[in-house]
Amino acid sequence: MSHPLFTELQKVHTGMFVSENQSLSAYNTLHLGGNAELFAIATKQSELFDLLKFIHQHPDLPFTILGSGSNVVISDSGLPGLTIVNKANKIDIHPRIHEPDSHFKVTYAQRNENEPEKYLDFTKLDYDESGLPYQEVTIQAGTPLPFAITQLISSDLTGLQWFGYIPGTVGGAVYQNIHGGSYHFSDYTDTIKVFNLKTGKTVLYKKTDLDWKYETSFFQKNPHLIILSVTLKLFRGNATTAMKVYKAWIAQKSKVQSMASPGSAFANPSLEICQKIWGEQKSTGWIIDHELNLKGFGIGGAKISQEHSNFFINTGTATATDFYQLVKYVQDKVRDKFGFELIPEIKFLGKFE
Ligand SMILES: Cc1cc2nc3c(=O)[nH]c(=O)nc-3n(C[C@H](O)[C@H](O)[C@H](O)COP(=O)(O)OP(=O)(O)OC[C@H]3O[C@@H](n4cnc5c(N)ncnc54)[C@H](O)[C@@H]3O)c2cc1C
Repeated sequence: MSHPLFTELQKVHTGMFVSENQSLSAYNTLHLGGNAELFAIATKQSELFDLLKFIHQHPDLPFTILGSGSNVVISDSGLPGLTIVNKANKIDIHPRIHEPDSHFKVTYAQRNENEPEKYLDFTKLDYDESGLPYQEVTIQAGTPLPFAITQLISSDLTGLQWFGYIPGTVGGAVYQNIHGGSYHFSDYTDTIKVFNLKTGKTVLYKKTDLDWKYETSFFQKNPHLIILSVTLKLFRGNATTAMKVYKAWIAQKSKVQSMASPGSAFANPSLEICQKIWGEQKSTGWIIDHELNLKGFGIGGAKISQEHSNFFINTGTATATDFYQLVKYVQDKVRDKFGFELIPEIKFLGKFE
């Protein structure tokens, strides 16, 4: 039976792709999950805007917004209401070049890998650009991050090279406050334009008005705020150096991080927790590998990667339930042995039990 709002959804924006009972497996890096009751792909900001107005007009309609689906596990039973895949993409470079100032503050995302020779060694790639002139760039949320990085570096705008090998959109980068090496995405952020689904209006937030932490943003606690675009302050840096670092970082990461995953399964535990147990910072990968001996362990088709123990991969036959159970299993083991809670970085969407 057709969804009661499907006919109305078809009229939201001429030419936009809409469907119902749409399989979501093509819209996430794990290639799994059930169907979306209602589904739309926004390829332009005007399409996204009209879809968000539609949700605002139907406050009881459940909704989900997806970027590249590179940080999610979608329930086998699918997603209720409307799922929007945001592909609205545009990059606007503002013409004015600003003199160097003290706006740039590194929040030091780096949680050292405990075995850099085996995993990642960022220290040799890091360098400081903070004394350089800078320029503002506005990027629509559906722009793929790898595309934005290479386009901007080729325009001599640097700073995003640390976020190489992250297959998400710019909206996902803001939502998750992604980290790369020593840096968080919020270090480069100036303002964020959002659509407020409660009021039906757009709002501009200044980065300095919001709280940013490792793998956490204000938007995770406010799902009625949909990120439309972000304005970044990027450096007029050396494009050759930035591109070299970007490629070297990708070369390292691609050896141990699988694209058939939703990224790191868990955030690393805080220094405070680690100091009490190990006397120093430990990464979640190290804990799963050395303390739990779970490298290669699997449930159904979901498996802890042999190359990086904080990456859980789809071996080809995994269900979303397999992933959920594997995450719970590791959480239980860590709680039983060490008494603290590992926090998943992965977002579980839809019903899980
Ligand atoms: C191989 C690999 C490597 C990775 N490396 C890293 C890494 O180094 N650092 C890191 O931090 N992450 C990493 N990730 C995880 C992931 O790529 C990032 O978190 C990415 O930013 C997610 O973006 P996305 O567009 O895919 O978001 P999605 O997975 O589509 O969505 C994630 C969440 O963001 C929300 N969201 C998406 N767009 C919007 C929007 N416009 N407005 C409001 N909410 C929105 C969704 O509703 C969902 O809750 C990696 C993943 C993989 C597969």
